[in-house]
Amino acid sequence: MPDDPTGPFADLAIVNCTALLGVTADRTTFAPGTTLEITGGRLTRIDPNPAQAPRAREVIDAQGMVAMPGLINTHCHAAMTFLRGAAEDVAVARWFNDYIWPMEVNVGERDVYLGTLVAIAEMIECGVTTFADHYFFMDQAAQAVADTGIRANLGSAFFSSQGPVGLAESVAFAERWQGKVDGRITTSIAPHAPYTVTDDDLRGAADAARRLGVKVHLHASEDLAQAKASVSSRGLTPIQVLHETGVLDAGTIIAHGNGIFDSDIPLLAATRDRVGVTHGPKGYFKFALGPLTPIASLRAAGVPVGYCTDGAASNNTLDILESMRITALSQKQVRDDATWFKSAMALEMAGPESAAVLGMRGQIGELTVGAKADVILVDVDGFHCQPLHDLAAALVYSIQPTDVRTTIVDGRVLMRDRQLLTINREALLDEFRQRAREITDRTHGRSIQDYTN
Ligand SMILES: [Zn+2]
Repeated sequence: MPDDPTGPFADLAIVNCTALLGVTADRTTFAPGTTLEITGGRLTRIDPNPAQAPRAREVIDAQGMVAMPGLINTHCHAAMTFLRGAAEDVAVARWFNDYIWPMEVNVGERDVYLGTLVAIAEMIECGVTTFADHYFFMDQAAQAVADTGIRANLGSAFFSSQGPVGLAESVAFAERWQGKVDGRITTSIAPHAPYTVTDDDLRGAADAARRLGVKVHLHASEDLAQAKASVSSRGLTPIQVLHETGVLDAGTIIAHGNGIFDSDIPLLAATRDRVGVTHGPKGYFKFALGPLTPIASLRAAGVPVGYCTDGAASNNTLDILESMRITALSQKQVRDDATWFKSAMALEMAGPESAAVLGMRGQIGELTVGAKADVILVDVDGFHCQPLHDLAAALVYSIQPTDVRTTIVDGRVLMRDRQLLTINREALLDEFRQRAREITDRTHGRSIQDYTN
């Protein structure tokens, strides 16, 4: 309740929720009976002990629900929803060379719009309010973000095999869309990886990122075999390549870092205020990659690590709740320690740590006054959650994506009680399924790139 009962109305109020108001590596703070007020796209009031009903144009009663910060997918290729399930049970080199890169020859601009819309629909449904995307025809992805109301960091991916135009287009895209659609779009420069992009182009990407005040978003040290191949072919780890080309210094989103060596950690620690690593374990397990991203060492060095799904072609879903759960389970397993990676740490990685990977700590990933109003309401009344002896554990180990009832981005309700408000499900799926059949045709015998590390 505003102190002045005749004061201005909030745009939106959420009442009776149990709000996740704070999280650290070993502690969560939940406040039952909380009222959240949102005005102008930001959280303007958080009251755990409201004396009276709020003054707001719209009020959502969230009895039985947890209000938590919207989830963040720190690395994906949204439009790859078209290839979901199209390349299963193969190793990573065959996955690229025999399936994905030949199929991507068929992907056109309209496809990227459609595929990204499907990805956004799925992400809104499972509580993702911000995603970092790395793909081609990115004006189409930006249009999908504009049309649906979600928040995104977008990067136009390139290979040096495209010639100078690849980097130039990536830079032009970042310049064109940075801060657009009410600030919901931020951008990155997006070289594919150190093994498909030359050092000169990496230097150019770093220079442009510095000039524009954005990050470089790329794949690096994805797995141990690839990192070892870099050492044997040029005497440098991929992280050392990023250091020498100025990419780390400019600020970097690194996917996926499974091949980060202990000797790389000091380089990453030196740039930890602007470098983060994104972790999507489901795909690593599917590709039988090991070891996993050294989360413990990175965290100990102060380097933020966030969750991702990568593309649906490898991960099958864009469900960050699933990435969080698999991470929590696998981290306990690899450390042989059931007391490590508590539910609080899992939620900290989902919130402020994932925000930090994108350079957005304090703006998203937390419910604090002044932060962007990206909020999800999660129903914890289901049998699979009850009784609630440990609410943090319920969020990490029990809830299903369908328990996300309402998704709010920038103060706007994009899904209300499981109904998508900005996407026409039937029309979208009709066109998407038709194009999916055509995109997976490989009879042309061509490919967009060759995977040789
Ligand atoms: Zn990726």
